[in-house]
Amino acid sequence: MLEISGLSIRYPGTPDIVRDLNLSLAEHTTFALIGANGAGKSTTLKALAGLLRPSAGRVLLEGRDITRMSAHRRVRAGLVLVPEGRAVLSRMSVRENLLLAGTDQNGILDRFPILTERWNAAAGSLSGGEQQMLAIARGLLLRPKVLLLDEPSLGLSPLMAGQVFDLIKDIRADGTTVLLVEQNARRALAVADRAAVLELGAVTCTGTGAELLDDQAVAAAYLGGR
Ligand code: ATP
Repeated sequence: MLEISGLSIRYPGTPDIVRDLNLSLAEHTTFALIGANGAGKSTTLKALAGLLRPSAGRVLLEGRDITRMSAHRRVRAGLVLVPEGRAVLSRMSVRENLLLAGTDQNGILDRFPILTERWNAAAGSLSGGEQQMLAIARGLLLRPKVLLLDEPSLGLSPLMAGQVFDLIKDIRADGTTVLLVEQNARRALAVADRAAVLELGAVTCTGTGAELLDDQAVAAAYLGGR
């Protein structure tokens, strides 16, 4: 579904922050990208969404080369980013935030009772977890084939984080491919079909989510030891 080969990414005036990244996301699967702060996870998602131009490499979506495609055309092609930090429009209501993404809400909002209860509330008055749900709902209304989620559990209580991870399982079950970037490695690996560890801009380890959960080095570095 999404093939990333030899991708290198830098910001203006920096060396390559991500180097020679190769990832392959199969259809209807969840891929988790874990790694320490500053490893380049958000940078990778921004480049995939078309917000940064890679210095080398290729990205194929369903076999089609989208490496040079603009951000808004990527959304239309089915690649949607839910950025870090619950990027909702805080003065607008829940309803207005969702309308910006699409009027065809057929079935999607059934997954978000929390939002329909707060339909006319200003998005900024929602809890952190509710805002994250709103950001994800908005992403889903764009009907993605591949949903890129940047740190969806960041700053949430364990209970709310659990709800977000349950939602990610549902999204995958509905047939959407998910690329999940997370600090919460344990929970991310638990929902992931496949996963990779990014260290200083390069992949150091890949496997199934279960394999990485069982890996001693991964456990020591990212799961608080065991
Ligand atoms: P985090 O969880 O902290 O966001 P991350 O793995 O997502 O970590 P990135 O945000 O991708 O890491 O950052 C990777 C590196 O790129 C860091 O060293 C950061 O300082 C650098 N970086 C990020 N944004 C910019 C920018 N706009 N200009 C220059 N360097 C940047």
